[in-house]
Amino acid sequence: MANQLPYDAHMIPTELTANIAEVKQRIRAAEALAGRKSGSVSLLAVSKTKPAEAIRRAHCEGLTKFGENYAQEMAEKSQILADLPLTWHFIGPIQSNKTALIAKVSDWVHSIDRIKIARRLNEHRPTERAPLNVLIQVNTSNEDTKAGVMPEALPGLAAEIAELPRLSLRGLMTIPAPASTPEQQRAPFRQLRDLMSALQPSYPDLDTLSMGMSGDLESAIAEGATIVRIGTDLFGAR
Ligand SMILES: *Cc1c(COP(=O)(O)O)cnc(C)c1O
Repeated sequence: MANQLPYDAHMIPTELTANIAEVKQRIRAAEALAGRKSGSVSLLAVSKTKPAEAIRRAHCEGLTKFGENYAQEMAEKSQILADLPLTWHFIGPIQSNKTALIAKVSDWVHSIDRIKIARRLNEHRPTERAPLNVLIQVNTSNEDTKAGVMPEALPGLAAEIAELPRLSLRGLMTIPAPASTPEQQRAPFRQLRDLMSALQPSYPDLDTLSMGMSGDLESAIAEGATIVRIGTDLFGAR
């Protein structure tokens, strides 16, 4: 939120157009390098702190999936943009008092790491909507302070979430600690993929690995990402 300039003052439309083309090209190149099918990785545009107008423009360029970190901000933008066929992905830390709003507005939630939050989302998911697609956020950095369930606790949490009828458990998400080399970047992504492979026999609906951001999307795609979450390289610095 540090940048208080109006949107138009720091990014002209042609810049957004060029950024989208460049990110799509990077995704395609990484898919090809990994021997993966073109189009197997989807692009989640992380629009947190950016105005609704930026999302509208990105939609004109063909983007339909948007990621937000703050419940109130997501709710406001989804109302302003209700005329567009967008899907909203909540990717930020979840406070208990925001679960009703998140369950109402989101199509996907990437950041579940506690059963208490999952139960509240389940309770609040409106009955007229399809079950909420959810991902479990895993701490792949071995730091107590980081968000995400520790890998040892993942099978237990997955089993509890799978019991909740208004949630559909679809996969895993991680935000690794910063790494400098591609090999260091790939290790936590490989770990996340292995964790999902271990769960898949019990949960055949698991098909989503949300991993990779502006600085490491190539490494994530090499390790099997199915959704990359890109903010800065699309919309500019926050
Ligand atoms: C902000 C954010 C992103 C986007 O990061 P960039 O480096 O700007 O691409 C991705 N995932 C999560 C969970 C985020 O909070």
